[in-house]
Amino acid sequence: MNIIFATSNRGKLREAEEILGEGFRLSTPADFGITEDIPETGSTLEENSQLKAEYIHSRTRLDCFADDTGLEVDALGGAPGVRTARYAGDGHDFGACMDKLLREMEGIDSPQRRRARFRSVVTLIFGGQTLRFEGVLEGWIAFGKSGCGGFGYDPVFIADEFPDCTLAEISEEAKNDISHRGKALRAMAAWLRGKGN
Ligand code: IMP
Repeated sequence: MNIIFATSNRGKLREAEEILGEGFRLSTPADFGITEDIPETGSTLEENSQLKAEYIHSRTRLDCFADDTGLEVDALGGAPGVRTARYAGDGHDFGACMDKLLREMEGIDSPQRRRARFRSVVTLIFGGQTLRFEGVLEGWIAFGKSGCGGFGYDPVFIADEFPDCTLAEISEEAKNDISHRGKALRAMAAWLRGKGN
């Protein structure tokens, strides 16, 4: 089964290939000469993942999927949410994003009041049908940064499954097993495998 994954991120591509496994061949927009940034002008994760999938589908007419992820912090009314990647400006500077988050949470002094989650939404356009899959990773925002693995906000996120360390302090394999994106992609893979039977 050939499917386009609307990403230019090699790490995400590798993760999706591992999760989908045998029987699937993933390509990227670049393989079709689509190299521009896909506009993410939606106001929700759902809208943005759909915009990205539709953008690729309208140009290729081929089966494709796209993902969008946000960090939702209860004490901040769900922020940064859809603005997670640009929380500290357009530079995608995750150090600055984490500093801003920690600053805004100063004085919130218990894990229970620092609850947060990563939420990933995947939109799949397959055979002309549009489907949506979601994955959530629950946890809380640490009081400071810790660890140097992973990416993005990993150094300040403590997952319920690993309460003694941040996501930046666990192995990539352990993270993939519990991650929001992993859950959403596995749900999509299960649906696609069902199609193949
Ligand atoms: P994207 O939609 O997958 O590009 O994710 C948007 C932003 O969410 C990223 O730029 C990261 O800041 C953050 N993010 C997504 N997934 C993770 C994760 O697994 N760990 C830490 N940060 C993440």
